[in-house]
Amino acid sequence: MVMRIGRTLPPAASPLRLKDIASGVSVIFEGEAAARRLEDELKSFYQVRYCFAVSSGKAALVLILQALHQIHPEKDEVLIPAYTCYSVPSAIIKAGFKVRLCDMAPGTLDFDFSRIVEELENPHLLCVIPTHLFGIPADVERLNTLISPRDIFVLEDAAQAMGGGWNGKKIGTLGDVGLFSMGRGKAFSTVEGGIILTDNDMVGRKLEKQLATISRYGAMDTLRLFFNAVALSVFIYPWIYWLPKSLPFLRLGETHFNPSFPIKRLSSFQAGMAKKWSTAITRLKAARSVNANKIAGYGIKLPGICRGTIPDLIRFPVLVADTETKKKILQKSERMGLGISDGYPDSIDGIGELWDLPGGNTFPVAKDIAERIVTLPVHPYVNDEDVRDIVQLFQERSYVEK
Ligand SMILES: *Cc1c(COP(=O)(O)O)cnc(C)c1O
Repeated sequence: MVMRIGRTLPPAASPLRLKDIASGVSVIFEGEAAARRLEDELKSFYQVRYCFAVSSGKAALVLILQALHQIHPEKDEVLIPAYTCYSVPSAIIKAGFKVRLCDMAPGTLDFDFSRIVEELENPHLLCVIPTHLFGIPADVERLNTLISPRDIFVLEDAAQAMGGGWNGKKIGTLGDVGLFSMGRGKAFSTVEGGIILTDNDMVGRKLEKQLATISRYGAMDTLRLFFNAVALSVFIYPWIYWLPKSLPFLRLGETHFNPSFPIKRLSSFQAGMAKKWSTAITRLKAARSVNANKIAGYGIKLPGICRGTIPDLIRFPVLVADTETKKKILQKSERMGLGISDGYPDSIDGIGELWDLPGGNTFPVAKDIAERIVTLPVHPYVNDEDVRDIVQLFQERSYVEK
């Protein structure tokens, strides 16, 4: 274990400014109004009739799944990519449903559409969750077309893609219902938070009823959020980040399967911090895009459907030659403070707690992604020299897949 003291890039960053925190504090006593205002703004920006702001992306997932289940009570299985964030199966299990997996298409982070077809014949299938991992757009339209004759919902997981667009469409509105996360390390952050969007009346009305019954942040919760916001706004600077990173109890950057988490409505404090969401996202996207394009300009390839245009990314994923190479790159980055990070520790079938999933080598592409993926930072604190240092690690040997 190397401990580095000195400038260290975080893997991802959506900096909260002290101004944003002050804006959060200024509306603390407004109650409901601040969050309703944020929801109304998002509704009009995304041109949807329903928007709900909640405590996390995971909370959003649970609420959506429960709403969909009320529409189709006979269905209780949810199909997700075999390589995705562990929060997704955590939420499915918390909601009381069954996880089903589909492998990824080789060379991409999206479903293998030739394999998804048979999964869609499952009469218990409630919904499919296409996921814009790291911001790379999943082909939701293709999924919509495949599904359209059936009673299966498309739940767009845009947790990592708030503010993203693709082919002139706004990510988050491509399926029946979509969600964003405003957690740490996402495209835009209020410490924690989640957004649900839908233009489907039936789904929207079920969600409305459900949202009326869930709890709110209390005074102590808000105080905890406040201290977290202040800590985040300070610790995220590369000249300070080495400090929290070296504290093992903070467990920065670790991924766990954990189906126990609270479900609440977004607090006024968080809504206040999100007041300038539109300009903040525009600014963050611009900075990330400059860095992502520089990295791509050095010939580093992005897995996925996109040729030419680099989409709005929060981290730049790369598939390297093999696990050994990945370990070496991560070690070097650790020593040099370059902020290169691992993806998720394993494909979803590798999570021991999900005992009823098929074993064996059923999802070889997802497994292979887990073994070979690293992600490069593209956030606003990454400078020219960092990009050169990062890219150099990939040029030293034949590290990147041909
Ligand atoms: C982060 C994430 C979530 C969950 O969001 P939280 O706000 O962290 O609960 C869901 N799906 C994906 C793909 C994510 O990256």
